[in-house]
Amino acid sequence: MTASEKSFWNESNNYFLTATEQCRGCGSLLAAKHILKAIYESTPNAMVFGRSCGGGRSELQTGGRIGVDGSGMMGIQAAIEARGAMDDRTLICLTGDGRALEMGAGDFLASFDRGQKLTWILLDNQAYANAGSAANALTPFGASTRIFTSESGGKPTMEREMPLMMVFSQARYVATAAPAYVHDLAAKVKEAVENQPSYLHVYVPCQVSWIYSPEQVVELSRRMVQTGLSPLWSYKNGVFKRTVKISESKKRPVQDFLKLQRRYEGITADDIKVLEDHARRKNKMVDALESSLNEPDEV
Ligand code: SF4
Repeated sequence: MTASEKSFWNESNNYFLTATEQCRGCGSLLAAKHILKAIYESTPNAMVFGRSCGGGRSELQTGGRIGVDGSGMMGIQAAIEARGAMDDRTLICLTGDGRALEMGAGDFLASFDRGQKLTWILLDNQAYANAGSAANALTPFGASTRIFTSESGGKPTMEREMPLMMVFSQARYVATAAPAYVHDLAAKVKEAVENQPSYLHVYVPCQVSWIYSPEQVVELSRRMVQTGLSPLWSYKNGVFKRTVKISESKKRPVQDFLKLQRRYEGITADDIKVLEDHARRKNKMVDALESSLNEPDEV
């Protein structure tokens, strides 16, 4: 059976996940559809494992139990190697932020320490959505969650900046992406698969945790980038570059992103300013990396 004939795809050229267990307006599902399409159309020998709320929750074989996708993928690789078939396989793990970057952070990072031939694609919906939308390390400042309610001012600390941290890992390719920028996302999926070990961090709106009208999912994804809260860039072979540049006329204030979601319902003017400063600092860092890391490494 070839990749394009797997049973959960209804037609031979339909790579899309079904939507029977996802919420309407799920950004993870939207991203996962584009990601699987890009993988299977460019890499016929790809084997995609993983599990996350919204993307691959019921369709993909899990990479491992919760928090141990890295170890699970090592076991899968060892089993394929034992059968002498690894040369014909490209392994990919499509998973989520809480599962891999908080509960499984050590296990996830160890796969890069081992130099494991693997692509990680992280769908970051900024919460433990599957478990009632509790906060995790990637939940942004000011967002209300099951524990940090809007009455208490939302989450009191900033998100962990995992993608920039990964620039300093053993990954050969690191990038950020968003489903509103489909061509950028598809190109990065292909680059990530071709340059293993690799890490692709995809920011995805979550209807249940962020609380928005389902038809706003693409607009929200676009505004995350336009406000500077989630800059899109790539890092390969020593060269860091911003891949989606937002022109002055398209830039938006942070409030344009926040106001579409009920998780920021009670945010104060002071906290909006904190987020504006945070976005400015993050983009300053991205610009500094782009201007200083612009020569390919000598191999
Ligand atoms: S809870 Fe969020 S991530 Fe999970 S299926 Fe619903 S919208 Fe998608």
